Amino acid sequence: MKFTELNIDRRIKEALDKLGYSETTEVQSIVIPELKQEHDVIVKAKTGSGKTAAFAIPLIDAVVFEENKPQVLVLTPTRELAIQVKEDFDNIGTYKKIKTLAIFGKQPYKFQIQDLKQKTHVVVATPGRLLDHLKRGTFDASCLKYLVLDEADEMLNMGFIETVEDIIEQLPVKRTTCLFSATLPEKIQELTERFMQEPLQVHVKQSQIVDQQIEAYAYEISGAMKNDFLFKLIVHEKPASAIIFCETQEKVDTVYNMLIKNRVSVHRIHGGMLQSERLLNMEDFRLGKVQFLVATDVAARGIDIENISHVINYDLPMEPQNYVHRIGRTARNNKTGTAISFITQNDHKRRMRIEDYTNSSFEIRDNETILQTVVNHQSLSELKKKIVRKTKKNNELKKDITKLYFNVGKRKKIAAGNLVGAICALDDLDGDDIGVIQVQDTCSYVSILNGKGKTVAQRLNQTLIKGRTMRVEIAHNE
Ligand code: ADP
Ligand code: MG
Repeated sequence: MKFTELNIDRRIKEALDKLGYSETTEVQSIVIPELKQEHDVIVKAKTGSGKTAAFAIPLIDAVVFEENKPQVLVLTPTRELAIQVKEDFDNIGTYKKIKTLAIFGKQPYKFQIQDLKQKTHVVVATPGRLLDHLKRGTFDASCLKYLVLDEADEMLNMGFIETVEDIIEQLPVKRTTCLFSATLPEKIQELTERFMQEPLQVHVKQSQIVDQQIEAYAYEISGAMKNDFLFKLIVHEKPASAIIFCETQEKVDTVYNMLIKNRVSVHRIHGGMLQSERLLNMEDFRLGKVQFLVATDVAARGIDIENISHVINYDLPMEPQNYVHRIGRTARNNKTGTAISFITQNDHKRRMRIEDYTNSSFEIRDNETILQTVVNHQSLSELKKKIVRKTKKNNELKKDITKLYFNVGKRKKIAAGNLVGAICALDDLDGDDIGVIQVQDTCSYVSILNGKGKTVAQRLNQTLIKGRTMRVEIAHNE
């Protein structure tokens, strides 16, 4: 189905066009009409099949712009995924001016509370922090109409279920609830009876759990060989971009240090790191500034990075469904990819569980080719040559949008309307050129659309607002 044929707001279609989305994926063609009719849905569709837009498009369409309180809540298991989903809402909602917040732990409450007080249409959050805001009364759920559990099986798993249930209890009963994942066990049905209403089961069929677009195979090696083998393997394979999954934070650190010592272009990510470092590392990897990412399962679910050519399971995952999620970081959106696993003698049980779950046996390859790989100056520089810079998918959209900084805010009695007034008073500018507005205590930010940001900054800088001269410039950060 073409997006142009869908019955959705033209401003959403315009954004999708700029993002390069022309036709719906299969899951989108089924789910969008259901959500438009406010049906509860439980959706199982493979990794990388476009589930985010399957809920983001109809929910952005449903959002009432004039309402100031949150109307949509999306819960995700990790902070990185919350940010990614927020960015998808930002992109698709650009021209409808949808305001989306990402709310997660290990960040100061102060700014989150300030943000939540402002007009907010959509909140994407990790459960713990969101529950805190509900308890403190700083998240107003009274206008909430949609709840999404992304990576739903994980959200209803031991680590999260109690928090998620506590959150759901405080949401309006009359709402639409939807669950999305690539792995959803049958027994989830019973769990959901309490908080969903006659949910429609959407199961986008695929012949095999492990995608045919992923070439998956394994090496049988000893634990002691893993480091040396990994290094030779990457020199042999020369992946353009790869995630290496390890079982624990300590293993991630060890593997990372080994690769750094060998001058490989690599970052790491795990739960024991500072949040700021986690986010920066992920962003660098997303933009192709580094070739490898060594990670725990925090990066296993949902993370969508363009052209990851390889996933390497340095350790097999404990949970068989995480095998599917990990390797699903490659071969996304109709591309192909390679997944390589290391299997040791101690992995007997894990291996069986994964083989049972995926209904296929590991293809074991001969170690010799890898062991004979020559590591020298030349092979290492060939490895480095494979790095490609990546652009974000919203490039086309962003080209037209400029965020402006105004050095006036609430303390100078400035409201959004004053800024809109000043901008619309300029020749050739009207409401359609203005995107999201944030008025803070001492400054404000306004996104200007349609490539007009620079001229607005030039024309408004050093002019009067409420009798005072203001400074207006292109914002470099928030
Ligand atoms: P999932 O949640 O199913 O694992 P995502 O929602 O992360 O997958 O989407 C995977 C990739 O496909 C993303 O990069 C997204 O931008 C892209 N994508 C989604 N829908 C479309 C579409 N209709 N046309 C083109 N690209 C799409
Ligand atoms: Mg997803």
